[in-house]
Amino acid sequence: MNELDSELVTGQLRTLGYAMTPDREHADVVLYNTCSVREHAEQKVWSRLGEDRLRKLIRPATVVGVIGCMAERDGVDLIRRMPVVDVLCGPGELDKLPALIDNAVRTRESLLGDEPPAGVELDDRGRIVLEDSEERRRLTSAAAVALQGNTSRRSGTLAAAADSLELLDLSRSVSPDEHSGSAYVRITRGCNKFCTYCVVPFTRGAETHRPPEHIVEECRRLADAGVLEITLLGQTVNHYRFEHGASVSVGGVVQPQKGRSYQGGHRRDPFAGERTTTFADLLAMIHERVPGIKRLRFVTSYPRDFGDDVLEVIRDHPRICRYLHVPAQSGSNRILQAMNRGYSIEEYFEFLDRARAFLHQPEIGRPLTVAGDIIVGFPSETDDDFRATAGLVERARYKNCFIFKYSPRPGTIAFDKLADDVPEDVKRRRNSELLAIQQRVSAAVGAEFVGRTLEVFVQGVSKREAKRRQGASGGGGIAGGSVALTVGGKGVAVAGASCSAEASIVENPPAAGDVGGGAQLTSRTDGDLIVLFDVPAGRSAAELIGTIVPVRIERSEALALHGTVTPAAG
Ligand code: SAM
Ligand code: SF4
Repeated sequence: MNELDSELVTGQLRTLGYAMTPDREHADVVLYNTCSVREHAEQKVWSRLGEDRLRKLIRPATVVGVIGCMAERDGVDLIRRMPVVDVLCGPGELDKLPALIDNAVRTRESLLGDEPPAGVELDDRGRIVLEDSEERRRLTSAAAVALQGNTSRRSGTLAAAADSLELLDLSRSVSPDEHSGSAYVRITRGCNKFCTYCVVPFTRGAETHRPPEHIVEECRRLADAGVLEITLLGQTVNHYRFEHGASVSVGGVVQPQKGRSYQGGHRRDPFAGERTTTFADLLAMIHERVPGIKRLRFVTSYPRDFGDDVLEVIRDHPRICRYLHVPAQSGSNRILQAMNRGYSIEEYFEFLDRARAFLHQPEIGRPLTVAGDIIVGFPSETDDDFRATAGLVERARYKNCFIFKYSPRPGTIAFDKLADDVPEDVKRRRNSELLAIQQRVSAAVGAEFVGRTLEVFVQGVSKREAKRRQGASGGGGIAGGSVALTVGGKGVAVAGASCSAEASIVENPPAAGDVGGGAQLTSRTDGDLIVLFDVPAGRSAAELIGTIVPVRIERSEALALHGTVTPAAG
């Protein structure tokens, strides 16, 4: 989700004459796209802001902005704690970001010349002698702020009339330079589930569904720009539905709609009909109307409310990937209840078994792969609860699973009502134990593919290759997904912090085109398995990246399959 937000923001800023720069030290504008899901992600931002505080004493004209969930959650308290921040913009207000930045840049320019502000002395090596001053305090008191506050849970009609985020999605800039064959498309925003540990319903607001025509048009534009693979995004992506009879247009633009709550347990969307586009309808629609998209995926599925109609559509449409990311979070019914997940372990496996019955067909080369998320150390989790979770991970046969230690998040129900009573060392031990189990399961799932030839989408150089090249050149490379902009004299650095576990493993920027035979590339199967292979002699990385090629799988390790490019799939 955050990755897509970063793309939309940078696209917007580019059209205004800004350009990306990888150099945070010398950028004119530094933006942090933040995540609040776990405390660790926030800590990183605080530490970067601390560095900016010092840097800004030397380059006072730099504009520093915090966007995304942390901005929404901490609000102006964030500026009180870190006065270095000039711009604060929640995920629901990103369309206002260019105006906020513009404002902040102009304010800085009018307040400052080229000299450091009065009261700030630099030594002969440019280090700060006097850290603070009245002048600095004056400069930091004029922050630009756009936060959603509690407006995001207004009635459907009111919110629809005011939905400017849709315009941001609609104005997305699409070009072959920006998308190396793969792209995200948002279909729903926000979440209505209120799992007791989670900040998302508070930071991203109510579940809202985009009009299907807008989604299909965005996919078509991406396909026209050469995109082969699209991942549809939503926190509970299978809840997607759009009721045409209730749609509202503003200025000729059909507006997104608030999601209605599901009753749960149904196998088909009971409200489906001619005037409703269900999630199953949407998948079929994109598949039929945008044949240029060779792979259509979606994340993240909620294990409840997943109808047979969706499974049938996946089964019957060859370009829809047989891949589900469907987090269980725990293997204990008691903990699931405390998490307010709304399903039992028995219901979770009923869904997994049903999905596999529909979609797991390795004999025709169409297996189903499944990924999960687990939280260990949720309040009151006992050894028995944990054993139940370990049993779930064994039985679910995930191709991979994101395992998180519970992180108490202020503002959530669990934070307010449940003591964080599992000691850190126990959380850590459970985390490692589960990782070891999952590594074994992943290797076993991967082993089933050895000897087969799979079509893989080539993403870029592998991490190993990137490190090797970095070592050889002595360069620093791009750390932690930070990218940046420079044009028209203004450079913007946007540092990404991943929101979903999906995003945190998407990874290597496409390789520079000069990597030839022998260099290791990373790719994904339609079931989202990572496949590493070497560029064959006589070919270059540039011609392979962003394309789909057949690779014969030779061995399976816990985190990836290894293979060789073959002349044709078999
Ligand atoms: N909407 C998705 C779902 O319900 O499956 C998940 C979205 S959440 C942004 C991504 C993952 O972060 C969750 O599946 C959960 O495992 C993890 N997570 C969320 N809040 C957490 C917390 N307070 N502590 C630890 N992990 C957390
Ligand atoms: Fe929503 Fe997922 Fe968070 Fe639950 S974990 S509140 S479903 S985003």
